Amino acid sequence: MQEPWGRALRSAALPAPHLFTSRDVELREDEDEWVSVAASLGVTPERLLLVRQVHGTGVAIARRGRALPWPRPEADIIISDDPDVAIGVGVADCAPILLFDRRSGAAGAVHAGWRGAAAQVAAVAVRAMRDTFGVNPAELMAAIGPCLGACCGEVGPEVVEAFRRGAADPSGIDAWFRPGADDRSLLDLARANRDQLVAAGLADGAIVDSGLCTKTHHERLHSYRAARDRAGRMLGAIRAVRRR
Ligand SMILES: [Zn+2]
Repeated sequence: MQEPWGRALRSAALPAPHLFTSRDVELREDEDEWVSVAASLGVTPERLLLVRQVHGTGVAIARRGRALPWPRPEADIIISDDPDVAIGVGVADCAPILLFDRRSGAAGAVHAGWRGAAAQVAAVAVRAMRDTFGVNPAELMAAIGPCLGACCGEVGPEVVEAFRRGAADPSGIDAWFRPGADDRSLLDLARANRDQLVAAGLADGAIVDSGLCTKTHHERLHSYRAARDRAGRMLGAIRAVRRR
């Protein structure tokens, strides 16, 4: 999808204003970029709510009519029922996940890298939407944006161990790893997030996955593994829809 500022990804299946940005914007200090990307979501930059991400499972809530002022709390999940603001997470190899409930119009944005996925951050987000907005997980839709793919997701044994510790059923994590060289493994981060969303109650068919690896496609997408400290950030963002 071509926007005035560059290429963006959207899922035709997700009926709420949303996007995943590409490498066409860095989304660091350049104010103009933030203005442009916010405009694509139909908001001013002050109404594009972000969090200070810490690879955890903390939840920030933007409630209708009470979202502003937004102190940018420390969190890796934002949920919102306010159609006047957009919510977003920034990533470069971690998975951005957008959630949407057709019935209530409520939305969520999740920063799910390996640390988050090991701590079941996607499932925490689904529970937060259920508990806060009365969302039925079986009616939630999810879009998983570009992230480090199983092709490039080499991790050490400490990562496998972190997943094992965080899992309710440790045998369930085997599907997320393939053997790599020596003691390394290859993590399929999108698959781990998808399986966790299904375990949290979403229908498998209600989850779309871009299928794009950030490192493989580093000429189009930001990848920390490819560019290290020079990597910009991709924004995954969504706006709730007014229903009631
Ligand atoms: Zn790859």
